[in-house]
Amino acid sequence: TATLYVVATPIGNVTDITLRALHVLLIADVVACEDTRKTGVLLTRFGLNKQMVAAHQHNEREVAEKLIQRLRAGERVALVSDAGTPAVSDPGARIVDAVRDAGLHVVPVPGASAAITALSASGLVNDRFHFVGFLPAKAKQRETELAQLKLETSTLVIYEAPHRIIDCVEALAAVFEPTRQVVFARELTKMFEEIHRCELKDALAWVKADQHRERGEFVVLVEGAAPGEDEGQAEAERILQILLAECS
Ligand code: SAM
Repeated sequence: TATLYVVATPIGNVTDITLRALHVLLIADVVACEDTRKTGVLLTRFGLNKQMVAAHQHNEREVAEKLIQRLRAGERVALVSDAGTPAVSDPGARIVDAVRDAGLHVVPVPGASAAITALSASGLVNDRFHFVGFLPAKAKQRETELAQLKLETSTLVIYEAPHRIIDCVEALAAVFEPTRQVVFARELTKMFEEIHRCELKDALAWVKADQHRERGEFVVLVEGAAPGEDEGQAEAERILQILLAECS
């Protein structure tokens, strides 16, 4: 029946594709993808020859309309991104939103996600985590956003684009305590996978110690603030409120 399947694909190691994802790709009438070339490689790898439509950041709304028409005609549509889970720091959310609004059926087909993969092997206690995704590219905005996260007690999960890891570490070091644990999860599931945990004060030296580390895809995890820090802030805010009340 007419369904939009939101299909996770591998984040590196192609054998991480799930059996269900393969089945859904096999029965789909069309595959909506971020980049037809990249998805084409994946489909070919598994012997699938499918019609693809490009659905990227800039045309998601128009594509959504076309896909809704096809769903209404009874077709099955698979939505994928270049890697990992679509619609999370990736295109796809607008399509899912429009298809849901149209009252049509949406089914997730779970699989790899860089965030969860990194958390699982980090050794940090991740009962709670705060998904930050990509930080703003502009230094000022990045600093403001990090400053707002300083008291967050959950583990922070940051996605970093290749080539920006040094800027990212410098920005983290400017805001957080030097003793916070950080975990770098680089090239997950790929040949040069590295998962390194250290204190923030040693992070820049680690990144710079090997020039390969300035490339590749990273998930950066930052240990949350100690709960006490939060209480200190709450106390400061309480006193501020008293003082402000006195002044008025
Ligand atoms: N939707 C994807 C997911 O489910 O994880 C994320 C896509 S986002 C555009 C790309 C970012 O995810 C990269 O810049 C990096 O932070 C992270 N990422 C994706 N694949 C990775 C990998 N193999 N190793 C480390 N980080 C990865």
